[in-house]
Amino acid sequence: MKVKVTDPYYDEALKITTHNILKLDADRLLSGFRETAAIIKGLSIQEQKSFMKDKKRYPGGWEDGMIGGHTLGHYVTALSQAAVNPGLDDGAQKEIRMRLEYVVDSLLECQEMTMGTDYEGYVFGATLPSKEFVTNPTLQFDNVEEGKSNPFTEAWVPWYTMHKILAGLNAAYAIAGNTNALKVANRLGLWIAKRANDWSPETRQTVLGIEYGGMNECLYELYRINRDLEGAESSFAISDPDILFKAAHQFDETKLFEAALAGTKDLLKDVHANTTIPKFIGALARYEADNNESIYLEYAKAFWDMVIEKHTYVTGGNSEDEHFVADYVLDGERTNVNNETCNTYNMLKFSRRLFLATGDVKYLDYAERTLINAIMASQDHDTGFTTYFQPMATGYHKVFNTFDGNFWCCTGTGYENFTKLQEGIYYRENGKLLVALYLDSQLETDDYSIWQECDFTKSDKIKLVISTKSGKAFCDDLYLRKPEWLCGNPEIEIDGLRCNIQDKDGFYNLSKDLLQDGSVITLRWPMGLHYENLPDGENTYAFMYGPYVLSAMLGTTKISTKPHGIAVVVSGTKAVDSDVLRITDELSVEDFLRNLDKHLIKEPGTMDFRLEGVDTPLLFTTHYNQYRQSYGIYWKLTK
Ligand SMILES: [Zn+2]
Repeated sequence: MKVKVTDPYYDEALKITTHNILKLDADRLLSGFRETAAIIKGLSIQEQKSFMKDKKRYPGGWEDGMIGGHTLGHYVTALSQAAVNPGLDDGAQKEIRMRLEYVVDSLLECQEMTMGTDYEGYVFGATLPSKEFVTNPTLQFDNVEEGKSNPFTEAWVPWYTMHKILAGLNAAYAIAGNTNALKVANRLGLWIAKRANDWSPETRQTVLGIEYGGMNECLYELYRINRDLEGAESSFAISDPDILFKAAHQFDETKLFEAALAGTKDLLKDVHANTTIPKFIGALARYEADNNESIYLEYAKAFWDMVIEKHTYVTGGNSEDEHFVADYVLDGERTNVNNETCNTYNMLKFSRRLFLATGDVKYLDYAERTLINAIMASQDHDTGFTTYFQPMATGYHKVFNTFDGNFWCCTGTGYENFTKLQEGIYYRENGKLLVALYLDSQLETDDYSIWQECDFTKSDKIKLVISTKSGKAFCDDLYLRKPEWLCGNPEIEIDGLRCNIQDKDGFYNLSKDLLQDGSVITLRWPMGLHYENLPDGENTYAFMYGPYVLSAMLGTTKISTKPHGIAVVVSGTKAVDSDVLRITDELSVEDFLRNLDKHLIKEPGTMDFRLEGVDTPLLFTTHYNQYRQSYGIYWKLTK
């Protein structure tokens, strides 16, 4: 099944991202890996420099810090996704594939240099900040085992970085079919397993106290790949993949999982969000690897519910300064550093996989909401660069990375996000084709193709045109997701004839008997204004139109940035003194909301909405493409 996204905005987002990826110097991203390998091999300083092609790590405090090398992991994943993305033409795909092969072969070359040494299989790219690290290039991992975590002198988050590297290698094999990537992944997997499987319970506890990304997830994935290898490729397999399953389990925090399942009050209070979400994706990965482990699916579901119900803003984002706060505190924590983009990246990935595991439409509703309003909203559409935080306090603006200065975690997930926009639109399995997202696109299978014409910024109508291969019958029942935001009665027509179908479990089912070559299905999903508030902000509202979160345009005059955390840049100034709007035209907030259509008026032919009947009239637009101005999503209505 191949999916080409033809929506112009999404297409441009892919193209600019691909352009940036190719512009990055792979040798600079590889320099730390080469340095480490050269040291392990015992090369002289001169030989090291030459092996590193005289290239330095990128600057900015991350790639040239102890988290260095994480970007290469994201880079390999993004290249793998782009290499198979039908949105890119053959020439671009070829160039991407060559870059991917170059990076993977370079990692293999580094790994070969470790074979037969004490560091066999180890590939890593972080800086080695002192002599001790040069003597022992795995010292960050030793330090973590002793609970030492000074990010400049001891250890930043080496297991987090390792997750990104191994996940990239898994993707290069599983998505792009690069067998050398599997070779590197397996040797690295054995290095990891040897270390993790030897931990005493105390050491393990210490290690799990420091951010480790989705180490359980990527090891379960590598286990699954090895277990399922067949034919010629099985020569790459690890002879006993159970060693990976065991190592993955070393990173499972069962106590935390059980606490989530029990719905423990304030379980996530002050907990680092991007550390925690991947732990539960790892729990889901255990279930995906072995369906008998159904309790792990329950852990994952319970955690997802907890995050969505108690910690999520209207865009689908979560967190304040990278952390969850107390249950149901959202209005109280609206600042300039909400909604780390990695969290949304992870929640989107998590939701799609939970949908595959459960079939529950709620995961697809969330996926649509957050794809449009947090992921698409994370990009500067002119440069392709992406956000770290997305402020929920009214009046701030989005701050994006620069090309070669900010290799943040979210920069890496940004490269991944915009090379996989073709994912999650269609699902096909066992005689069913499910349309999960309404987005202009072309689906190609061995049996048929479908053209989906859709542009919700212009019309609430969608057209699906079926074309079967050489006289074949249409062979799948069609399942159309009923959007959560429908406002009014939907209409479904096949070849101009109205179908009266009731939805079941969130889907409209069209039997394959109704469809054939040339069939045209026309859908009308009525869109309208709606609003949401926050559990701790009775009068704090966000407005939506159909699937789009709206935000007020607050101009560019109050834009400034300031430093934050370790080499991060954030929005520094608010464009408004207050987010309170006093109602002038109605008797109460309830009346105002009941008559919202009268007060938030759509400008014909645009996605701009004039808010009137308040003391400060505002102009709203779709939030996803607001990347230049200060903005305001949430407003406090008062009489
Ligand atoms: Zn991040």
